[in-house]
Amino acid sequence: MSLRDRLVARIRAAGPITLAEYMRDCLTDPDFGYYVTRDPLGRGGDFVTAPEISQMFGELIGLALAQSWLDQGAPAPFTLAEPGPGRGTLMADILRATRRVPGFPDAARLHLVEVSPALRSSQAQTLSEHAPTWVDSLSALPDGPLWLVANEFFDALPVRQFVRGHTGWSERLVAETDGELVQGFGAEVAQPALAGRLEDTKPGDVVELCPEAPTLMAEIATRIARHGGAALVIDYGGWRSLGDTVQAVRAHKRADILADPGSADLTAHVDFEALARAARAAGAAVTRMTPQGVFLERLGITDRARMLAQVDPKVAAAHRRLTHPEEMGNLFKVMGIHPPEASPVPGLAT
Ligand code: SAH
Repeated sequence: MSLRDRLVARIRAAGPITLAEYMRDCLTDPDFGYYVTRDPLGRGGDFVTAPEISQMFGELIGLALAQSWLDQGAPAPFTLAEPGPGRGTLMADILRATRRVPGFPDAARLHLVEVSPALRSSQAQTLSEHAPTWVDSLSALPDGPLWLVANEFFDALPVRQFVRGHTGWSERLVAETDGELVQGFGAEVAQPALAGRLEDTKPGDVVELCPEAPTLMAEIATRIARHGGAALVIDYGGWRSLGDTVQAVRAHKRADILADPGSADLTAHVDFEALARAARAAGAAVTRMTPQGVFLERLGITDRARMLAQVDPKVAAAHRRLTHPEEMGNLFKVMGIHPPEASPVPGLAT
């Protein structure tokens, strides 16, 4: 049995499912989920992320987090956490860059939030010296000071999608016809969760809602507001969701999201406004959403690239890829979370 067969049987028995339910199964089903069954990153994988492009990304983020830790009086111990750590590359670069920050390595208790057994074992190899603790969800992180980085984590969470009509919203669904998965739409009804979107949308517009994002952000922001710490959320997206941004990627190419469920990466743009609102509601301060290119330039990526270029000629291309507005520099955004009484993470401003 394949995930497609199982979904078809389920839809036949109980009716169409939401796009979010579909994405959830495709990505993290314990038997067939895309992330659960493979390592999608790097050579021979489906997509490449910033830390896999260059060590500079993690080094600069490590130093920014360590500076934030020093600014808040170097609390010890503290939780150093990453949800969705992929192959552990970003965290390895963070830990290497901060090795000589006095007190930081000894005070850090490394926690990784990961659903994928395949990626957990890859993280275990990369980070073996740092004795990581794995947890299944952000709610299982210890209560206490927390420094956290999430790169391309929130874009992997399922979204619901709604098309505005004249009297309400129709939800995009996944249905089945003759054993094939097809796109469907629910009846047009009022959506209280989208009440705030009536003024800035018109009939025909598409809006996405990530049901898990605010809850997960609240887990992070509550700890930071109460015990100190900071978080960096780095992802592709923008301020306030508008339009269909759900995409499937297989072998570095766009694919049909309904074809061969579980075999392609499915993502949606991150709605930073929704994250900011959840963080503020939990009592934390939120920085301005800043383009990744601007953030990395402020942290000194040009100097670092010049230094590395003496030993690695490929570094100029990586620098461009991470920061140029036509590459990742503008599409990817960075937002910081910190306690209201503390200063923002370097490179960001409120
Ligand atoms: N941050 C890494 C990997 C990004 S890919 C990098 O920048 O290279 C997304 C990561 O999130 C993977 O590690 C995936 O297994 C994990 N993931 C996806 N959905 C998750 C969920 N619901 N809970 C925890 N981890 C999840």
